[in-house]
Amino acid sequence: MSEHTPTAYESLIQFLYQVPIGLVQTTLDGEITMINPMAAQLLMPLAPAGDLTNLFDVLQDLAPPLRAPARAAMRALPPGSVGCDGLRLNLPPSAGPGQTLSLRLLRLDAGTLMASLTDVSLMVLQEQQRLDKQLRDANRIDSLTTLPNRTAALERIEAALGRSAADDTRQFAVLFINCDRFERINLTLGTAAGDELLRVMAARLNGTVRQGDSVARASGPLQTAARLGGDEFVVVLDGLRVGDDARTVAQRLTEVLCKPYMLGDRPVHLTVSMGVVVSPEPGATADSVLQDASLAMREAKRAHGARYCVFEPLMKEQAWRRGSIEGELRRAITEGQLFVVYQPIVDLGSGLAVGAEALVRWRHPERGIVPPIEFIEIAEETGLIGRLGEYVLTEACRQFVQWGGELGAQAPQLLSVNLSRAQLFEGDIAAQVAAALHRSGLPPQQLQLEVTESLAAQDDRIQARLHELKALGLSLALDDFGTGYSSLASLHQLPVDVVKIDRSFVSQSESSAHHRVLIEATLKVARSLGMRTVAEGIETPGQSAILQALHCDKGQGYYYARPMPAEEAARWFLAHVPAPLQEAEDAACPAWSI
Ligand code: C2E
Ligand code: CA
Ligand code: CA
Repeated sequence: MSEHTPTAYESLIQFLYQVPIGLVQTTLDGEITMINPMAAQLLMPLAPAGDLTNLFDVLQDLAPPLRAPARAAMRALPPGSVGCDGLRLNLPPSAGPGQTLSLRLLRLDAGTLMASLTDVSLMVLQEQQRLDKQLRDANRIDSLTTLPNRTAALERIEAALGRSAADDTRQFAVLFINCDRFERINLTLGTAAGDELLRVMAARLNGTVRQGDSVARASGPLQTAARLGGDEFVVVLDGLRVGDDARTVAQRLTEVLCKPYMLGDRPVHLTVSMGVVVSPEPGATADSVLQDASLAMREAKRAHGARYCVFEPLMKEQAWRRGSIEGELRRAITEGQLFVVYQPIVDLGSGLAVGAEALVRWRHPERGIVPPIEFIEIAEETGLIGRLGEYVLTEACRQFVQWGGELGAQAPQLLSVNLSRAQLFEGDIAAQVAAALHRSGLPPQQLQLEVTESLAAQDDRIQARLHELKALGLSLALDDFGTGYSSLASLHQLPVDVVKIDRSFVSQSESSAHHRVLIEATLKVARSLGMRTVAEGIETPGQSAILQALHCDKGQGYYYARPMPAEEAARWFLAHVPAPLQEAEDAACPAWSI
């Protein structure tokens, strides 16, 4: 057989039959004069009877109607021109799911058209997937910080859970981060500054998690920092070698996030609390892991923040217990299970009682007397502190006025009531105190409110509230001095009249020269600022003598008296404030001016 060299025409035909594009040659009316296999394959599903005579007939059921416009347009076009370029034809479902053809018509000469048909289903699918992904990403990005959002974080935790279930040598950890007292930033600097701060935090977080930390780097590429919302962030560390790596990263992150921030030219101090869950129990879900991490974060907050806490199963039990205490405490307030005890405050020089601190107690129907340490914090966290505080203030003011009438000159003259920082933000505290004074008839000069050091100098809004309270004519005492944030150097910034030296210093005053020096320094600074001083928790004659020698004004503690219910306290005052002496004292100096 002689070797046949194909002519150009034959080559063209071969080409037409092989190209993966459908090609159909028609008259201007659409009568098919040539069709290649690919076109036949694509069009066959549209011509169930197998009738591929006229292209426009075959395509007639597909939107948009083609015959008339194609004809008009193609007639107007000079040969060689393209019309209907890339027209998308969605095939009916019978042709297969999501089948789409792209049609292009070319006018070959006066009476001939060439239609090219491409199956773009795959392209459309890919395009769709791209759009879907874009949409998903938009739904997974936090718009303020551009970090992944809560949905994305939950997906990452879910994925990490799956991976660690499949490979039990693989550890992962979730770090739940919450800013300490972020509301302070929004309230004092405005929400725009708050937003800016969150953005800077996000950048620090991202920087540390992605590049800065050698542990994070070594433990693989699957580190995610995300923002859950508000001032809450989460970091997922997947593929850790050992659980201790999570602690290293948590410590590093805590340090990085607690460094001062610059907003404009203003330095802002902010700390964070972090809860860490390492390799959750089998059966955990993404939600439960986040919940556990948030419980641990609350534990870090309870320990005054600026730290991380690793989740332990016991925390769940404690949280449950707290939850049940909350319910019981609500009832306790409405059903009158709370009552107030009074601990005398004495003048260290004369040993005479000058006032009393009101301390709340809870007579629990099953547990007996519950100390405040077990419920004040819960009341603060749950917003019950407002009603609790109001009860104590109202009851103590009423009691003092009653003592004034019953005990005469032997009645204690100065009532000290504790005020939680949470109370300063609930409603109008100055109006509430004014109302309590008004209702009871207690002169404002006889009331002293004790605030803790954590109501620190930095916060302008708290300071404003404290000044409003002082404007009522009452005095303010700084409780637990020495345990908190403020130092002697910042004492002058606080609008307080009295400094109460914390029990932890007093209890070591006999055994530790260091503590004696600290007490002495505090007393000197307070005196130089015109503030009066009270030593808390005096338990021994030795402590009492030291505080007297250091010229502390007043003292309070078991050495003198324990906190007592009202009736017992009244008897104590009668026994410890002899009437004639009290009169002499009154003449020298009004007893309530401690
Ligand atoms: P705080 O204000 O520092 O009150 C003094 C605490 O020290 C009282 O404990 C008191 O019983 C105890 N204490 C007094 N003298 C001595 C002593 O010589 N030795 C020892 N070891 N302890 C002594 P309490 O009554 O258990 O109160 C604990 C804390 O609960 C209070 O500490 C205060 O922060 C808070 N609290 C009590 N009542 C109220 C209240 O009505 N409102 C608010 N917001 N907080 C309250
Ligand atoms: Ca106190
Ligand atoms: Ca105290």
